[in-house]
Amino acid sequence: MTFENNLDFANQLDEQDSLNHFREQFYIPVINGNECIYFTGNSLGLQPKTTQDYVVNELEDWANFGVEGHFHATNPWFSYHEIFPQQVAKIVGALPEEVVVMNQLTVNLHLLMTTFYRPTKERFKIICEAKAFPSDQYAFESQVKLHGFNPDEAIIEVKPREGEYSIRTEDIIGTIEKHSSSIALVLFSGVNYYTGQVFNMPSITKAAHNIGAYCGFDLAHAAGNIELHLHDWDVDFACWCSYKYLNSGPGGVAGAYIHQKHFTNKSLQRLAGWWGQNKTNRFKMEKGFDPIETAEGWQLSNAPILSMAAHKASLDIFEDAGIENLVAKGKQLSDYLFFIIEELNSTLTKKAIEIITPKNEKGCQVSMLMLQKGKEVFEALKQNGVLADWRDPNVIRIAPVPLYNTFKEIYHFGEIVKKILS
Ligand SMILES: *Cc1c(COP(=O)(O)O)cnc(C)c1O
Repeated sequence: MTFENNLDFANQLDEQDSLNHFREQFYIPVINGNECIYFTGNSLGLQPKTTQDYVVNELEDWANFGVEGHFHATNPWFSYHEIFPQQVAKIVGALPEEVVVMNQLTVNLHLLMTTFYRPTKERFKIICEAKAFPSDQYAFESQVKLHGFNPDEAIIEVKPREGEYSIRTEDIIGTIEKHSSSIALVLFSGVNYYTGQVFNMPSITKAAHNIGAYCGFDLAHAAGNIELHLHDWDVDFACWCSYKYLNSGPGGVAGAYIHQKHFTNKSLQRLAGWWGQNKTNRFKMEKGFDPIETAEGWQLSNAPILSMAAHKASLDIFEDAGIENLVAKGKQLSDYLFFIIEELNSTLTKKAIEIITPKNEKGCQVSMLMLQKGKEVFEALKQNGVLADWRDPNVIRIAPVPLYNTFKEIYHFGEIVKKILS
């Protein structure tokens, strides 16, 4: 499609958008009396208007039933998490039994690394991206130390080449091949939180398996944003949070995926808890861990119902909208944003914005490296009711998301930035 940088064109795209009515299902924060332009759904997704009811229903069941709610609540708490796999599996491209909603993201990353990072003297390295999200870096470092290895030797980061911002797939594969027999685990994000680069997950997985390593992904910025086929790509494990694109509330309950082929592998270690125990004898309270032979077998604790209720409210909206439709609109929004920024650059005598997000490897997010007036632009955006994200030293991240952002907002964003830079 050929884009145009004017209000009529942006309005026309909104009118043609079959998902545009979903915006009404969300609370849009108000700044200076007006609905803001919310471009930080990659950080904390907005609240669906239905969330309160879902949560209040559980509070009422708790008030009415007390402990009996475990079996007599509208959605019995004992098995509450079982309402998720069908919907979540569609979002991440997995079989329902391969996904489980539990804990929080970094906790799940540790649990899955406990299973899939089993370093030996020969194979102890983790291959990951440079500038992984800090929490992930800390998780990798502490796991390596836990097993008695030195992070400086065990953690191999793949960097962008000199003068480039994204990491070439060939360099990731090259690094995997170079360290081949000493690698225990290849672990990348699905979408880098800083640059917005979407990694080539099928190629990375294949390269990892070719040299006999496991491969996992942190999908914090990928789940609910890009197309995923974890099962078909043969990914060993993955985890994600629910409060970014998945709109399930601050600190919301997270998700995990484990490929079916690992369910009955008794040689894999895991940390165990009673919610992972075979349901037929869970309440016999006997010795001897006998895990459920699905992703549920990695659960530890009984379900956090209130945050799960918020998650359910949001997933029902995803179900209505259809993940394929959302992914397609997300791409169109970020393509339009790309176009608007490039247009803007072309009208300036001195280039002001370097887009560090690769055009053909992106989801909703576009990251702008500000070559001049970065803070001024960011402040002006705030003054004009645009919520964007600043990352030191000089990157502004913009994420128009398909459930509630519009093409018109992107047009307005461009006008505000233009005013400061011209
Ligand atoms: C947002 C994010 C996190 C946050 O971890 P929590 O455990 O949810 O606090 C971790 N890793 C990545 C890649 C993220 O984008």
